[in-house]
Amino acid sequence: MTVKAIHGDLFTMVDDPALVGAAQSYIHIPDGTLVVESGHITAIGKRADIEPTLAASVEVIDHTGALITPGFIDTHIHFPQIDMIASYGEQLLDWLEDYTFPAEALYGDAVHAADAAEFFVRELLRNGTTSALVYGSVHAQSVDALFTAAHKRGMRMVAGKALMDRNVPKQVRDTAESGDKDSRMLADRWHGKGRLGYAVTPRFAPACSDEQLIRAGQMLKDYDGLLMHTHMSENVAEIKWVKDLYPDAKDYLDVYDRFGLLTSTSVFAHCIHLHGEEFQRLGEADAAIAYCPTSNLFLGSGLFNLGEAEKYGVKVGIGTDIGAGTSFSVLETIGEAYKVGQLRGQKLDAFKSFYLATLGGAKALNMESNVGTLEVGKEADFLVFDKTATPLLERRLKHCKTIEETLFVLSILGDDRAIRETWIAGERMHRRRPKSQLKG
Ligand SMILES: [Zn+2]
Repeated sequence: MTVKAIHGDLFTMVDDPALVGAAQSYIHIPDGTLVVESGHITAIGKRADIEPTLAASVEVIDHTGALITPGFIDTHIHFPQIDMIASYGEQLLDWLEDYTFPAEALYGDAVHAADAAEFFVRELLRNGTTSALVYGSVHAQSVDALFTAAHKRGMRMVAGKALMDRNVPKQVRDTAESGDKDSRMLADRWHGKGRLGYAVTPRFAPACSDEQLIRAGQMLKDYDGLLMHTHMSENVAEIKWVKDLYPDAKDYLDVYDRFGLLTSTSVFAHCIHLHGEEFQRLGEADAAIAYCPTSNLFLGSGLFNLGEAEKYGVKVGIGTDIGAGTSFSVLETIGEAYKVGQLRGQKLDAFKSFYLATLGGAKALNMESNVGTLEVGKEADFLVFDKTATPLLERRLKHCKTIEETLFVLSILGDDRAIRETWIAGERMHRRRPKSQLKG
């Protein structure tokens, strides 16, 4: 396999700035070289040091001056919601009923699912997202389609079919037994194949019977390395519903905990209205939260308390939560997280933002030994920014004096247009068309 050397302005987070301080949390090599071979990073350093060591056969890709970072990791996104994103006027429960479930009902059709999966995966790559934790629909076909599209491109991707056997329309309802059978069939087929992983995926407590949640907990025990992926404490009406369904539960988290679903591989989307003790128990269990600011704002769900998560050492990653979220771009999503922080009186600095978008997300999905940083031995998933993507971005970035300022401006003004290239396991999988080919 060809060895490639990529020259550029290399930046990677290596730790949580909230824990170790900003200065220790990142590595920045302005005139650097990244060497990749067989899908992995084999060297990284100053160009002046690495270039003389390269054999003549090495393929050189020159991105001098362009910022190169690890690929983005999206810790919560719904594949079958791409056709109803930007649906008007409702909060969570009505939004699910009116828009989401009818759209997801179509994913029992394998042809529809395969077509949507190709679009979905290309859209991730266009936005610089190299790994994601993905909800399928209730149908096994949707997950087959998604994994097929991701596997074709060698992506590190985790997904699961939604378990939902009560309180949802018939077209998107499974049974405790069929949901369990389909989940195990999918895990047997895909978990550990290439870079794919399976997640046991209960929709949320109100949509899953006790029997279904018991089986979900059992499946987690029966396999090695599965993730558990669900929603929790997103919306006030939802929380009241859970309280009505489980009057003897201590709180929302306790409902999942009693079924064995609170583990070190559990990822809970939203967690907006948790109280301190719930954060504490998440931290003690080493479970993770997927923070989805565009979704939380769009559905009017509330403002996530990142400070509390930090206080209790809870793993946090960024989720776009398409289709309640409003952008595939993790870059745009951390920009919205900054604004949520402003409303909460919590300053979110650019290092922390990029940590959440890369290494924090990798930790949340228990894949930090594989991806999330630019370090020797890691899989070579990275992206190349285009600092001239828009006239405003180009003009504003010229005034940046530090890497922190550059990252911050990118997060506030950037979107898919700022992603010039996306690389998966050392192969270029997306290249934005040069400006000369774009209209206008
Ligand atoms: Zn969601």
